[in-house]
Amino acid sequence: PFSGLSARKPDALLALIALHEADRRPGKIDVGVGVYRDETDRTPVMRAVKAAEVRLADEQPTKAYLGADGDVQYTALLSDVVFGSHRQEPRRFGLQTPGGTGALRLGAELIAHAAPDTRVWLGAPTWPNHAPIFEEARLKTATHPYFDMASGGIAFDAMIDALGDAAPGDVLLLHGCCHNPTGTQFTLAQWRELANLCNVRGLVPFVDLAYQGLGDGLEEDAAGVRQLLEAVPGALLAYSCDKNFGLYRERVGALWVQASAPGLTELVRGNLLALARSLWSMPPDHGAAIVRTILEDSALVMQWRDELDAMRARINAVRKALAAQHPALDAIAGQRGLFSLLPVDADAVASMRDSHGIYMPANARLNLAGLNARNLVAFAEALRPHIPA
Ligand code: PMP
Repeated sequence: PFSGLSARKPDALLALIALHEADRRPGKIDVGVGVYRDETDRTPVMRAVKAAEVRLADEQPTKAYLGADGDVQYTALLSDVVFGSHRQEPRRFGLQTPGGTGALRLGAELIAHAAPDTRVWLGAPTWPNHAPIFEEARLKTATHPYFDMASGGIAFDAMIDALGDAAPGDVLLLHGCCHNPTGTQFTLAQWRELANLCNVRGLVPFVDLAYQGLGDGLEEDAAGVRQLLEAVPGALLAYSCDKNFGLYRERVGALWVQASAPGLTELVRGNLLALARSLWSMPPDHGAAIVRTILEDSALVMQWRDELDAMRARINAVRKALAAQHPALDAIAGQRGLFSLLPVDADAVASMRDSHGIYMPANARLNLAGLNARNLVAFAEALRPHIPA
């Protein structure tokens, strides 16, 4: 029955994990996989998370089913973190999803049901899973450039130019902060221009906020998104708690959809619940229950924020230290989040792997959290010969 299938390429990042595992060299450096690592190269469970898990193990009264919207108290408390003083918005409905990926896919399905011919505009380069998520939901994708490799910043004019080809009703996918893979972020002035563009051209923004708190702070990292949502009629926001709570494999996310009028919210809500029911019936509980348990308790919130602050401070310190190693790496200090796209090609990446046991995807996306006081200089030395003069 399956002979009609065509072969698919294995996921390049997962393949890289296996290669790194198999490498027996003691000085090998993994700057590929997109998880935070501390100064000792570990991805620990956050203390606030452990405390919440202990509490859940002791006190959780039941594991009976929840609804298709998952843990509604989780979504309500998380909306304070995401939207701040903008949390009361009658046009908005949110629900728990399996990770940011589940949120993106559910949003894609909603769009496909509302308007099957919609085109989704993705920045190039973006997270490699974005295009498959929308295309598997039967939507067309298009790309716009936004990254200026020479300056390591945003090529805003080129982006706006390319979006001149977008049609009314098209969806514009935007990273909320800490762009994966480029580490770029829009300024507030650029967010304002993007909101204007959406309004003038009838585009629907779909924000992917997967790294809130890992750039400049929880408030700072959400400021652009909040401003955008206030300025446009309809929008979607896919959220991941998997990085800022270190919950990766627990798959914790949420999707909020803002309808263009309060009267539409109920229609959107009913459709989201029906779609979620057919996709996963209800999201897995444990990770969201952890986040809820933390957000319900001010002491745990303080602890979580402290740990998140430390993660962010470490990433930004590594950024500074690496930038200081070579003038061509200057821009890295001003970028934010786990990632940066290095100014070297796939051959350089392969050569660094073969000669030095340094593991990065072929596009030279660097996970800064893979660097620490013991390996940073060695990494910079291995990189130096490949940087164009
Ligand atoms: N969006 C972006 C930009 C990401 O980098 C990631 C994770 N790599 C996700 C969404 C998905 O997050 P999750 O693991 O919660 O599905």
